[in-house]
Amino acid sequence: MSEKFDLPHQSDMVPQKLELGAEIQFSCHKGISCFNACCKQADLTLTPYDVIRLKDHLGMSSADFLKEHTAPYQMDQDGLPGIKMRTDDSGACLFVTDEGCSVYENRPTACRYYPLGHMAMKPKDANSDEAHYFLISEDHCKGHFEDKKQTINEYRKELGIVDYDGYNKEWLQIILKKKSAGPTVGRPPESSLQLFFMASYDMDRFRRFVMSEQFRKTYNIDESTYEILEKEDVALMQFGVRLMKQVFFGERTVAEQKDAWEKRVEERKEVWDMRRDAEISRKQKEDDEKYKDA
Ligand code: SF4
Ligand code: SF4
Repeated sequence: MSEKFDLPHQSDMVPQKLELGAEIQFSCHKGISCFNACCKQADLTLTPYDVIRLKDHLGMSSADFLKEHTAPYQMDQDGLPGIKMRTDDSGACLFVTDEGCSVYENRPTACRYYPLGHMAMKPKDANSDEAHYFLISEDHCKGHFEDKKQTINEYRKELGIVDYDGYNKEWLQIILKKKSAGPTVGRPPESSLQLFFMASYDMDRFRRFVMSEQFRKTYNIDESTYEILEKEDVALMQFGVRLMKQVFFGERTVAEQKDAWEKRVEERKEVWDMRRDAEISRKQKEDDEKYKDA
């Protein structure tokens, strides 16, 4: 069984697995003594949907958001690129204020979940993964001593997690599948890892790539789809997930142009021939100089 733990904040706790119907006792509100304590030690992994919501909230381009608010890290041993929210030197989230979260309505998935953690597990012979949850009980968090009780399902609805999960699911499947496939998929080439980064987090750059002449020559996509991808970030993000499943696992859902590979080889051939000729003439020149000196 393979699994992915998605711990929202730094924690040494050993998680205890909970199902959707399990009841938890917890409440977080502005009057609580520990208000903001969790945001002052924030270790947040961002999903592509988190990035879209946050950059739109801040009115920033995806490139500027990535530069100013995120730090890269590797999600697995093959260097699959992930991003974390940047913090200040003390570990505090850059969006925390005395009044609370300044991006509250668009805060990331992990913030919505806390103090719940989410765990996607794929039993060996199953077709799809299963969601499990665990409760993180840290000393600084006093919400566990409040009276409010609700099921995990109710908690997810109240905190707007259901929508976020819907948008994150397919992308998280890529990470889970890559992890569970292990060496059978192997280390993707550097260009595929770069494509994954762009298709996951940098929507503006990915859009330019998808709308380019070269992309159109390679993939056979109808004009109405291009019109949607040109305007809508979420649709573009979902398209990126399909493309990456095709690139990493060969799941063919994005139609390719007929003979696209052969045409690319044909186009490149001229360049390769020119490079080879240039290399031969450079070598000849070098030899001529050598013999002249001798
Ligand atoms: S984004 Fe908001 S909720 Fe999340 S850690 Fe930062 S301040 Fe806290
Ligand atoms: S109750 Fe927990 S989640 Fe709420 S502010 Fe306090 S530490 Fe953060």
